[in-house]
Amino acid sequence: MPATPAWPPQSTPRLFVETALTDGIELPVAGGQAHYLISVMRTKVGAPIKLFDNATGEWLAEVAMIGKRDLILRVTGHLRPREEAPDIWLLAAPIKKARIDLVAEKACELGVARYQPVITRRTVIERLNLERLRSHMVEAAEQCGRTALPELAEAVKLPALLNSWPSDRTLFFADESGGVPFAGIAASYKGPAAILIGPEGGFVDEERAMIRALPQAVPISLGPRILRAETAAIAALSIWMGSAGDWRSNQ
Ligand code: SAH
Repeated sequence: MPATPAWPPQSTPRLFVETALTDGIELPVAGGQAHYLISVMRTKVGAPIKLFDNATGEWLAEVAMIGKRDLILRVTGHLRPREEAPDIWLLAAPIKKARIDLVAEKACELGVARYQPVITRRTVIERLNLERLRSHMVEAAEQCGRTALPELAEAVKLPALLNSWPSDRTLFFADESGGVPFAGIAASYKGPAAILIGPEGGFVDEERAMIRALPQAVPISLGPRILRAETAAIAALSIWMGSAGDWRSNQ
């Protein structure tokens, strides 16, 4: 006898919704998400949809009604509780649009709890569109199966960030001019952590001194090559996830 196919199937569309989800509720969907379900996925009445709300985990729903430009979903059961994201923050100086969008997407996929843009002396990007960054993170979370969205913080200037740094959080400072090789030490720091990445132009010496003066700061190296800021962010997060985060066992 053929095995019963897994339900819901792998290809089930997965959406983030702002509404708090509970069993049995009916949920109107319009705008971009409705367009995606109706015109892109060609969803039919009765089709399964996965939903998450960043609060109560993941739910199974089905399409109850399809209109021209909107549809109604009915929530039919709870699939998973909300995840416990590893306590790692990414602090990165804003960089050019396509590159920072990439960082937002990848940071979400890699599992960060919080993404905090930091304005440094050589930061050249003046206007930062947080809405756009958030929508990249939402899309990444929908695609990669996250049930928690990373918190997206308002941009902060480096001195203000350092002045109010939490006493219990290690600040791994990616210093292109040298530090301890990150892969060798990431696992030896337990507890809350953050990774700080500079802009295209790097940090100025005064900033380096200011960061190093913070007792919670650990200057780290990401190898002998100068990485682009987005590569450095992705590489550092991967090292941390693999040695101190949730890539080590099936937690
Ligand atoms: N223009 C600078 C490089 C900046 S790279 C220069 O030529 O020196 C952008 C950011 O990526 C840096 O500020 C740092 O945070 C990080 N980074 C890049 N390569 C790194 C490395 N090998 N080790 C640690 N951090 C690195």
